Amino acid sequence: MTGIEKSLLRVIATVLLYALASPILLLKAIAAFWKQLSTIDRIRSGSITCPWCGDAIQLNRVARCTVCSATTPGSLLQCSHCHSTFATVTCDACTSTVKVL
Ligand SMILES: [Zn+2]
Ligand SMILES: [Zn+2]
Repeated sequence: MTGIEKSLLRVIATVLLYALASPILLLKAIAAFWKQLSTIDRIRSGSITCPWCGDAIQLNRVARCTVCSATTPGSLLQCSHCHSTFATVTCDACTSTVKVL
């Protein structure tokens, strides 16, 4: 078997492997898409429920940025001054850190 034949077989095996895995990759992409839609819905509702104490955490209010120390009104997930983004918020009732994104 020549080097060209080995290379051709390697390419065919790779293409075949991707073809066999494509349904699984498609299902994973659909699951990731639905998870992102769910996260967007939670953020657009304006508040999230703390999983530890059940209190409603308002996502839009006056808050102090931990990066630039500016105190501005707006979303807790993005500073309107320095545009830093945050994936977690702190519950005011029980002071727990809640993952939003
Ligand atoms: Zn900031
Ligand atoms: Zn809480």
